[in-house]
Order: sequence, then C-alpha cells, then structure tokens
Amino acid sequence: YFEVYVQRIEDVVWGSVKLFVFRDRTKEEETNRLRDEFVSVVSHELRTPLASILGFSEIMLNRSVKPEKAQKYISTIHGEATRLSGLIGDFLDLQRIEAGKQSYRMLPLDLKPLTEDVAAQWDGRAGHAVRLTLPEGVCAVRSDGDRLKQVLHNLLSNAVKYSPGKDVVDCVLRPEDGRWVVEVRDYGLGIPEDAKPKMFGKFYRVDNSDRRQIGGTGLGLAIVKEMIEDLGGEISFDSVLGEGSTFRFALPALDLPAVDEAVLVLED
Ligand code: ADP
Repeated sequence: YFEVYVQRIEDVVWGSVKLFVFRDRTKEEETNRLRDEFVSVVSHELRTPLASILGFSEIMLNRSVKPEKAQKYISTIHGEATRLSGLIGDFLDLQRIEAGKQSYRMLPLDLKPLTEDVAAQWDGRAGHAVRLTLPEGVCAVRSDGDRLKQVLHNLLSNAVKYSPGKDVVDCVLRPEDGRWVVEVRDYGLGIPEDAKPKMFGKFYRVDNSDRRQIGGTGLGLAIVKEMIEDLGGEISFDSVLGEGSTFRFALPALDLPAVDEAVLVLED
C-alpha cells in the first residue's frame, strides 16, 4: 500500500506549492512482518527445545539418576537437539535457495524407487501407514534426487503431522500430460480458505486451536516450493477443512527413448 503525505515547498516561479509524495510501504511492511515472525519462531522454536536440553542435562549433572531414567532423559535431549538441528537446517536451506546459491545435481533418474524409498521411511511412523500407488514401468525425469527426497519427506511429514488420530496417508505417482506427478494425500485437519493463499509463505503457520500443539516453523512448504520451481516443476494443493489435504508436485517426464535406461540413477 502507499503512504501519502503532503510537502509544502516555496518556489520562486510558482510560489507556495503543495507536493503530494507517495511512498510504497508494501515492501517495508513485508520486511517487518518477516522480522516479527522470525523473532517469534526463533524465540519459541529455539527456546523450548533448549530449555528442555538444559533442564534434563542439569538433572543428570547434579543428581545421581537411575539408569532407566537416565536413558529417558538422554533420549529427550537427543530428540530436542535433533529438532533444533532440523530448524537450523531448514533456515539455512531457505537462505541458500533465496540467495541463488543452492546447487542442483541434475541427472536422469527413476521417480519410482525414490518415491518407494521415502514412503517406506514414513510407513508406520506416528501410527500412519503409507499407502503407495505406483504405475508400471520406469518414471524418468531429469532432476536432483536428494532434493526431491527432501521435498517428499516434507510433504509426508506434514501429512502425518496434520492428520492426528488418522491411520493412513496416500502417496501416488502417476503420469499427467507429459509430466510425472507425485501426490501426498491425508485425511486430517485440512486448510481453512483464508489460509490457502499464504501456505507457501516463509514462516507462515495456520493459527488454529486444533493445531496449536503441533510444532513447526512454517519453513517447510516455503522450501518445497522454491526447490520444485528451481527444478523446473510445479507445486499445488487442494484441501477441504476437516476432511484433508492433497499436496502434489509435477515434473516434466523425460522421454525414455532419449535416455539409455542404464544411466538412470536407480538409487542415491
Ligand atoms: P510447519 O509445518 O513447520 O508449520 P509448513 O511450511 O510445512 O510449516 O506448513 C505451513 C502451515 O501449513 C502449517 O503450519 C500447517 O498449519 C499448514 N499445513 C501444511 N501441510 C498441511 C497438511 N497436510 N494439512 C493441513 N495443514 C497443513
């Protein structure tokens, strides 16, 4: 939006002149919003795990703790430290992408084993089975396998995280108009209409009572979008509040006759 203010200037020819000055504040506002959200995420997401790491390590330093309790405390410390490391990793990833410094290793690869591999890592986590649907044959694209795995991990992690109490998420790989589409569907909380345009924004989190307990930074989807677009793909989603969400990315299919199947990177 524009801020308008009036400046009076004296001019020898025109006499006293009123000057209307327009200043675009949109960018400034956005920068302020990002700074506020960064401070709030950092204070909450860094301080909460740090407090518990400090608390449990102090108990262990100051008291004699029974071995089974010690095991529990160390596992909490490890879990919280892992969370911190994830947050810092996400933050650095986004910085690197935005600075145009993320490099991509583009190789011909088969999306099928890649999808199977990541889905298998989420199968059974937090009480959710991952139901996989794959097409026949090779699903070749030219892309960066590690980055695609990171994207799929993020989508599956959200699907599981935002469908508490449900026991299944679907992961589908299918062809569509010369592209391969990887789709992750959950049957959970869904996304309110007013939140939909903001979903890929940095630090954006839906602020609803039903998800206040669910940890996160609002960086995951921002990273996913930037990466998929850098890789020449497209990301989209549908969601119905209270029924669930489907996130998908599409990548241009690689024409198989143009590729020697032997050069496909079947694993990382
Ligand atoms: P985070 O999960 O760390 O908050 P994301 O960028 O991954 O950050 O997601 C942003 C917000 O979008 C989340 O806070 C959540 O409210 C909403 N969201 C993301 N994925 C889903 C999903 N599958 N179902 C419902 N809401 C989702």
